[in-house]
Amino acid sequence: MKNKKAKVITVFGGVYSSLGKGISVSSIGKILSCLGYKVSILKFDPYLNVDPETMAPGQHGEVFVTADGAQTDLDLGNYERYLNRELSQMSNLTSGRIYYNIIKKERDGGYEGKTVQVVPHVTNVIKQRILDIIAKDNCDFLIIEVGGTTGDIESVPFIEALSQFNVEYGYENVLNCLIAPLISLSSTSGEYKTKPTQHAIKMLRSGGINPCMLLLRTSFNVEKSIYEKIAATSHINEKAIFLAPDMPTIYDVPTKFYEQKVHEFILDYFNYNYIKGQDQFNEWQKFMDNVHKIKSTTTIALVGKYIDLHDSYASVIEALRFAGWKNRTHVKIKWVSSDLLTDLSSIKKQLSDCQGVIVPGGFGLRGMENMINTLKYVRENNIPTMGICLGMQLMIIEYARNVLKHHEANSTEFDKKTNYPVIDLMDSTLHLGNKKCNVKKDSKAYLMYKKQTEIYERHRHRFGLIHPEHINEFANSDFVPSMTRAYKGEDLVVEFMEHKKNDCYFGSQFHPEFISRSENPGPMFDQLIFYAKKRK
Ligand code: GLN
Repeated sequence: MKNKKAKVITVFGGVYSSLGKGISVSSIGKILSCLGYKVSILKFDPYLNVDPETMAPGQHGEVFVTADGAQTDLDLGNYERYLNRELSQMSNLTSGRIYYNIIKKERDGGYEGKTVQVVPHVTNVIKQRILDIIAKDNCDFLIIEVGGTTGDIESVPFIEALSQFNVEYGYENVLNCLIAPLISLSSTSGEYKTKPTQHAIKMLRSGGINPCMLLLRTSFNVEKSIYEKIAATSHINEKAIFLAPDMPTIYDVPTKFYEQKVHEFILDYFNYNYIKGQDQFNEWQKFMDNVHKIKSTTTIALVGKYIDLHDSYASVIEALRFAGWKNRTHVKIKWVSSDLLTDLSSIKKQLSDCQGVIVPGGFGLRGMENMINTLKYVRENNIPTMGICLGMQLMIIEYARNVLKHHEANSTEFDKKTNYPVIDLMDSTLHLGNKKCNVKKDSKAYLMYKKQTEIYERHRHRFGLIHPEHINEFANSDFVPSMTRAYKGEDLVVEFMEHKKNDCYFGSQFHPEFISRSENPGPMFDQLIFYAKKRK
């Protein structure tokens, strides 16, 4: 199939943000990959942060970490989950990163006295990234999502670069797509207003991009006359207008697009033939049909401090959902703010309707003591519980204090001067991305991970259980280390802790949510849901 130039689909958002552009992009990618094509996705983020490392999760959502250790926008998590494939740092580029590199190069004399400008220097970097990712991934289709909304000051260099790219790469090789809402003035009259959509199309055109495909975000299905109106007023072929209505789950969006034959339009645009024998999409439909037959529900308390913005835990939510599907149950998340867990009675009250608990990652002191007390309660009551990164570190502190009787035990992240730094700073770097973890045979972790002695999971942390005397003390207790990794010569950091007597009480230093996939949920999530479902 790989005898043609990679085809590029650019996706812009109009009118306002939070249209679920990432899900639409992922869904198109999913369908094309089910048709046998190799698909890559590239996200341009117009903000000036170099990457999301320092952005507050409560404001910007999760920082997704790729296998090669890039800290990226959470949309990359969706791309990976829908495409069921690993992406790299090549798949995300921010304005901050572009300017950072350009300014460094300028200071080093790299521009040989020339004036450095948005056009051509910034636009060249943008276009080069597109060519680089196509070359590296050797893909059939590259879908490019441009973050932000058309008309934002910040997106101008990206729109300009893509408009140049259309010319240079060839219009026949680029399909520009706009996602815009179809606005209804009231939910009762059902009267739709197409003017904002029309304006978004005009705005994109004024930047030099001609949208040849339109995805209309709506709450419901709408009448065909609406398409006709937009087609007539905006010079877009009626056949190129598709609906992106709200669906029962985000994993039903590919089916909605498929039913409207979005893929046939795309293939046709590029003069590709639709080959029925190659189309595996019905596998996905079967999988989702099966999901919709699930009747049971299991409630898991997610105890954290960024719970006001659920996107802060985007990959954890999806990983729980996938593990639920495997165990034939829908996972309902009860969002429990650590601020509420101030004493035993509030802990009991908050957790009374939950069958399991998850304590995900996080940074900083706020809420930690409440979470530690909560972990004591769930451990003592054999409630299925799993900790991720910070969650595991808190499990260790709790156990050191209440069982090993080191009342001062703490992490130097919360108390620099603690006498018992059971969790300590490893070095000043943030440890990121895939790392090899060695699994102890005959542990629960070994069984969970299908008897592999070496596994790879993704990381994002600075602190860990690292001092040999502490590791040994735990090894002789009921809460034992069952995976480690070497991080500086002989030095070890504990990667996994498990309770020998409790049915389901464990945590990992790594983030298993990042590689958890719909048809292959992370083993830890699977275990948690398995035990939680049994507990009524
Ligand atoms: N703050 C902790 C650390 O840096 C945990 C990080 C996390 O949960 N991702 O080690």
